Amino acid sequence: TPSLLWFRRDLRLSDHAALLAAAHDGDADREMLGVFVADDALMKPSGAPRRHFLAGCLSALDESMGGRLLIVHGRPETVIPRLAAQIGADSVHISADFMPYGRRRDDAVAKALQDKGIELVTTGSPYAIAPGRVTKDDGSSFAVFTPFYRAWKQHGWRKPAVSGKGVSWIDPDSVTGITRHDPDLLARPLPKGMTLIEPGEKAGLAHWKDFLDGPVDDYQDHRDRPDLPGTSRMSAYLKWGCLHPRTLLADLDGRSGEGAETYRSELAWREFYADVVHRVPESTRTSLDPVIEAMEWDSGAEADEHLQAWKDGRTGVPFVDAGMRQLLAEGWIHNRLRMVVASYLIKDLHLPWQIGARHFMEHLVDGDLSSNNHGWQWVAGSGSASAAFYRVFNPMTQGEKFDPNGEYVRKYVPELAGVSGKAVHQPWLLPDGVPDGYPEPIVDHKAEREEALRRFKERPKR
Ligand code: FAD
Repeated sequence: TPSLLWFRRDLRLSDHAALLAAAHDGDADREMLGVFVADDALMKPSGAPRRHFLAGCLSALDESMGGRLLIVHGRPETVIPRLAAQIGADSVHISADFMPYGRRRDDAVAKALQDKGIELVTTGSPYAIAPGRVTKDDGSSFAVFTPFYRAWKQHGWRKPAVSGKGVSWIDPDSVTGITRHDPDLLARPLPKGMTLIEPGEKAGLAHWKDFLDGPVDDYQDHRDRPDLPGTSRMSAYLKWGCLHPRTLLADLDGRSGEGAETYRSELAWREFYADVVHRVPESTRTSLDPVIEAMEWDSGAEADEHLQAWKDGRTGVPFVDAGMRQLLAEGWIHNRLRMVVASYLIKDLHLPWQIGARHFMEHLVDGDLSSNNHGWQWVAGSGSASAAFYRVFNPMTQGEKFDPNGEYVRKYVPELAGVSGKAVHQPWLLPDGVPDGYPEPIVDHKAEREEALRRFKERPKR
């Protein structure tokens, strides 16, 4: 009996447990139909960079399947049962999705399939250890990262999934009565001047091998330096499952250096945040700490202007602007800058973290609900294992410390290209003042820091 493999955030052929479950029924091999559903509920809120990258990943997947990926448009609870019945499948296979919409959608699809006597089989997830599995001795979840990380490592994970057998894809053109989409139809034109990382499993693996061949050994020292190519850039590949984190963890096995250990812990942050969302689904929208929600936040015309300056990378604070312009140029921002620009929006401009998180989700190629919204909450001081609210990043000293020669700023802020060294972080101190074409700071950091702390101190108490 054939089966159907429904691809979602697992756009790869290697280390794919659900694919193997779909392809092999015990010792017997079976034919399967590989399907991706362009679901408006997920496609519509995705900005152009993520859609563009997704379309590229789907093209790459289709190519590695010999042109046999079926892309259809519609609601999964209608499309998947219809396709499965049409090919006479007795099972539909998926990797688990733990995000709030994904869980609701999968429940609806399982029910619709059940009505047709077809089983929805879940094998594996986008994580080394599925959310909800790493628990304290009493079975409860961790609210803080460090003990989670200890327990996560102790729990351990399976080795990458390999079978050695070939798989046999059903030709989608043999399925009648459906409109087959070209991956390019899902893409949206990229904003002018934006260039994205190369999509797909092969490109992701090549990137990963390059990282393993060198940068990983210095990762612990270089990961905070946006002026150096010190991080792996695996986030978009992990987001779409072009690679499974277990593949990365297996490659790190046997490497005992500090770089490998730090890298493992960063992967664990991704798993931790997914675990938090599994436990508290509404934390993707509202603060885990309601006190932060109830604080005084800015709104109105001036707040709108400030927000726009932040989005455009024209706040007059070079390190912040370089980060925001990297987002516009690459659909990606270095982690250090994600923290700095988030802190600036929340604590210098007094805008709620949700506004920034939404903007990031629209523009990031790796936009991931749990990592993004909890990354924002970490900075806002409202999440699990957060920095305290009163930790306000100083964007000038952050720049001087992590971009010591100013190269990162000059790369993304051409108006400051003529300023040498770290002086670029405070152009208002230059003998000739701020170079032409670059704005004066829209707010005074020192004063706004005080203002943020005042609002925090005077916040409504629970
Ligand atoms: P590397 O340093 O090479 O890290 C390797 C991998 O570990 C990353 O690909 C990622 O999967 C994981 N990782 C590293 N740091 C974190 C972290 N702090 N939280 C969760 N996972 C982490 N990451 C996303 O994948 N998607 C997002 O939408 C996202 N939004 C963020 C928003 C804010 C405000 C902040 C502070 C962080 C956010 N992060 C997000 C986490 C982190 O910034 C990115 O994962 C990282 O910059 C991606 O680049 P990289 O792959 O080169 O990272």
